Amino acid sequence: MGVKGRFAHLNGGGRPSGDGGWDCDGDQPLLPLLSSRSESENKSGRGDNPRPKKSPPPSDTTIQRHSKNALPRLTAGDLAAVGHEEFLLISPQPPTSRFQAMPSRFQAVALVSSPVCPNAVAWSDENLVAVASGHCVTIVNPANPFGPRGLITIPDTKAFPVGLIPKQDLASDCMLPTCLSRDVRPCGRSISWSPLGLSPNAGYDPNYGLTFREEVFSFYLFLYRCLLAVCTTKGVVKVYRSPFCEFSAEWVEVMDISEMLHTYFAKTRYGEVHVPTPDNCQVSQVGLKQGGIGNRANNLPLISAEQYACRSAMLSSLVVAWSPMLDNKSGRSCCILAIGSKSGKISFWRVHEPQCYSITHGSNPLPVASLIGFIQAHNSWITALSFSMFVSDESPQLLLSTGSSDGSVKIWWGCIDDLLKSTEDVHASFSLLEEVINVGSGPSSVLSLLVPDTLPRKIILAVGKGSGSLEIVTYDISIRKFDVSGSHYAHDQVVTGLAWAYDGQCLYSCSQDNSLHSWIIKGDLLHEVPLPSNILGVKMSTDVPNVSDACFGIAVSPASLAIAVVRSFDVNLLNQMYEARSLKAVVEFFWIGGQMLQDDNEHDDENFPGFPNRDLVNWGRNILWSLNQHEQYLDKPLVVWDIIAALSAFMKSEVNYVEQILVMWLMTSVGLVCDPSLESVLPHVYRYLSDLTSRQLHLFNVIIRHVILREAKLNGERQRSEREELKLWTKLLEMSEKDIQERLVGCSLSATLKGNWRHIGMAQMRLWVAKNDDKVKDYVKFLSSEAEKTESRCVAEAEEECCSFCSAGVPFEDTEIAYCQGAERHKLARCAVSMTVCPLSPLWFCVSCNRWVSNLAPVTLFKLLRYPLPGHKNVQKGEIAKPFCPFCGILLQRLQPEFLLSTLPV
Ligand SMILES: [Zn+2]
Ligand SMILES: [Zn+2]
Repeated sequence: MGVKGRFAHLNGGGRPSGDGGWDCDGDQPLLPLLSSRSESENKSGRGDNPRPKKSPPPSDTTIQRHSKNALPRLTAGDLAAVGHEEFLLISPQPPTSRFQAMPSRFQAVALVSSPVCPNAVAWSDENLVAVASGHCVTIVNPANPFGPRGLITIPDTKAFPVGLIPKQDLASDCMLPTCLSRDVRPCGRSISWSPLGLSPNAGYDPNYGLTFREEVFSFYLFLYRCLLAVCTTKGVVKVYRSPFCEFSAEWVEVMDISEMLHTYFAKTRYGEVHVPTPDNCQVSQVGLKQGGIGNRANNLPLISAEQYACRSAMLSSLVVAWSPMLDNKSGRSCCILAIGSKSGKISFWRVHEPQCYSITHGSNPLPVASLIGFIQAHNSWITALSFSMFVSDESPQLLLSTGSSDGSVKIWWGCIDDLLKSTEDVHASFSLLEEVINVGSGPSSVLSLLVPDTLPRKIILAVGKGSGSLEIVTYDISIRKFDVSGSHYAHDQVVTGLAWAYDGQCLYSCSQDNSLHSWIIKGDLLHEVPLPSNILGVKMSTDVPNVSDACFGIAVSPASLAIAVVRSFDVNLLNQMYEARSLKAVVEFFWIGGQMLQDDNEHDDENFPGFPNRDLVNWGRNILWSLNQHEQYLDKPLVVWDIIAALSAFMKSEVNYVEQILVMWLMTSVGLVCDPSLESVLPHVYRYLSDLTSRQLHLFNVIIRHVILREAKLNGERQRSEREELKLWTKLLEMSEKDIQERLVGCSLSATLKGNWRHIGMAQMRLWVAKNDDKVKDYVKFLSSEAEKTESRCVAEAEEECCSFCSAGVPFEDTEIAYCQGAERHKLARCAVSMTVCPLSPLWFCVSCNRWVSNLAPVTLFKLLRYPLPGHKNVQKGEIAKPFCPFCGILLQRLQPEFLLSTLPV
C-alpha cells in the first residue's frame, strides 16, 4: 500500500486509455495473476490503441514486456477450481517460461528494505552504487558486491517551526498535502551523487560533535571522493560523505541543506508581503493561548492555514540533483546542487572544490553550500530534475530540465560564469529556454537530459510519465526549434527510471510494472530493441531469488558496459519462513556491452571480420567505443571497472577474441595500418609510445596489468605460444611505464622551473636523469641542467635523506624502493611521484599498481598529448593537483581496512 500510495501524485489516479476511458490502476488486485488478466483483457479491449509498432517484435520480448502476462492463462473457472490457496502454493516455483526471456543478470545484491520512489539508484563517478530503499540508503561497490556496504539511516526529523494555525483550520483543503505523510519513519525519496572532488573524508566538526579523536583530526582530509545528497519523504535534504576515520559503515552527514533553507526563509519571512511586525507577533501569541493549542509555541506566530501550507510547501523538498563540475579558469571549480520543492520553487546551492587535496594534514575549511538563488519553475510539485552541460559559441552553459506533477516539463539554462560568481538573494542565473511539454499532459516522473558529444548542438531529453508513456524531446540549439516525438505507451505503469547510454544512442527505461526496455532512436522515433542477452555468464553465484514485482530505477556504469536496476520483491512469492523477513528488494546488474545500437546492423560486420556471432560483434564495438571515450575526454575520470570485468570474463573462454579487440584498439589508438595480429602490431606500438597521450599509456597499463597479466597469473602454466605473447605484453607495459616516468620527471622539472610547483624530490629526479643518461630525451636533460643552475644545493640534500626508523642515510638506487644504510637495512618505499623516501604518515595508494604516493603529480602529466610537446606548454596556474596515480591515471586512495567500503576504479 505504501508503495502504490506514494505514486499517487504521479499516477494521477489513472490514465486515459485509447478509447478515451480511464484505466484506474489505483486498486491493485491482491493476486498478481488476476491483475495481469484484467490488464491483458483491457489491452485486448482497446484494439485500436495507437500503440506504435515495435521493431522487431520478437515473441520473447512480449513475454518480458508483460512478464506477469506470461503466467499460464487461466480462466475464471480454472481459478475457482484450483482455488486461492493452491495457487499461492504453486506460485513460488513459477513456470520457467516466465523468466527465460528476461535478460539474465550477472550479479545481484539483496536489500533489506524496499525502495519507494522512482530513480532509486545512482552510480557515482568513483564507481559506487547507492540505492534508496525504505528507511535507509545502501551503498555498494559493484566490483565487490558481497563485500562491505555503506549505509545511511534516514533520520527522523521534526517538522520545521514555521508557525501555528488555529485548530479549526486543520481540516482546510490547503492543509491536505502537508498532512499526507502517514509514515512514522521517513524513507529515502531522491538521491544524487556529486561529481568527484567535493568530499572531505575525515575530520572534526564542531557543529556535529566530535567525530573522531579531536586531537588527531581537528581538520579535514580532502580525498578525491563524491558527496551523496539525500532527500527524504519528509522533505528534508542532507548531504553525506563516506566514513573514514569513523571506522563504521554509517556515512557521515556534512550539510543539512533543509536547516539552511529554513534559516534563510525565516530571515526573509518566507517572502510574504504582509509580514507580521514584532507587535503582531505578540498579539498572535496571545491569540494563540486563547485558541488553546498549547504553550509549546514559544516564538511562533499564529498564521492562516494558507500561509502555513505555503510555507511548508517551500520547505518540503522532493527531488535533488547535482550538476556536473563547473570549471573555473581563474579560481576554484564548483558544483551546483538543485533542490525541487512542493511549492514549484527550485533552490540552488553552490559547493566549491577544496583548496588542495591532502591525505595527511590540512587546514582546509569545512565545505560549505551557499545559497545562490531560486527559480519558480512550476506551479506544482517538482518531481524530476536533470542537469547537463552545453558549450555554446560564447560560453559554456549549464542546462537543467525540470518536470512537475502538473505535467509541464521545462528546460532552463544558466551561464556558468554567472553561476560561479552569483551570491545569495538574487534570482538564480537560470533563464527559461523552452517549455517543452505543457501543463495537463499527465505528471512526469523521471527525466534524463543529455547533450551528445557527437551532436553538440542538440539537446535530447527523455521524459518518463506517470501514465507509463515515454517522450523524447529534441531541441536544436542552432535553429531554436524543438520536437516532441510521439508519446509511446512504453510501460503499463509509472516510468521509474531512465538512463542514456552510448552518448545518446541507446535509452533504457523501467517502470513500476517491472518491465525493463532498451530503445534506440531511429529518425525521430523510438524503436524498441531487445536487451542484450548475458553471454558472459554469472560472475558470482548468488541465492537471490528471481521474484521481483516492480522496478524502481536504472543507472549506467561509468564505462557504459553495465546497468544497475533496482527491483522490489513480490513478498507473496518468497519463502515466508526464510526469505520474506530479510529480502525485500534487489539491485541487479546487467551487461549492456552486447547492446545492438543500430537496427540494420549488417554493414558494420566488415569491421569485425571473423567475430563468431552478432553478440560478440556488438560487444567488440561497444568496448572499443568505451575505451575511445576514455581516450578522448581527459576530464572524465578513468574508471574502467566494467571494461576490465567484461574483458576478464571473455578471457576465460574467448582468449583470441579479447586479443582481437585489443589489437584493434591498439591499431586505432596509434593509427597503425598493418596486419591485425599481435606479433606485428605490438613492435610498432613500442616505437610510437612517445607520440601517444598520457591517457592512452595509462589505459595500456591498466588493461595489460588487469586483463592480461592477472589472467595469466591465475591460469598458471601456459602453452609456449601464449608465453611468447605474454612477453610482448609485458614489454609494452615496461616501456610505457618508462615513458611515463620520463614524462613525470619532465613535467615536475618544468613546473618547478616555472615556479608553480613545490621543490620536492628535485635532487632525486636529477639523479635519475643522470643515471639514465643514455635513455632519456635531450629535452629532459636540458630541464635537469636548468634545474641544477637554479638550485645548487640539491645534490647535497639528496644525500641527506635518512631512514624513518633509524635515521641512517638512504642512498638513491631505485625509483620505488630504498634500503637504509643502518645495521638493520630497513626497506623503505619511495614516493612514485617525487622519488623521495616516503614519510611514516599516511600515504596515497594506487589499487592498480600498488605504488605509494606522498606528493601529488602535476596536472600537466595527465593532460599531455605527446611528449615532449613542441614548446612544452605548461598548465595555467591555479589548477589543483588531483590524486591520480602517475602510472595508471586512476584515483589514488587511502588504504582502508577490509571491513570498510572502498572503491575499485579498475
Ligand atoms: Zn633504517
Ligand atoms: Zn598505479
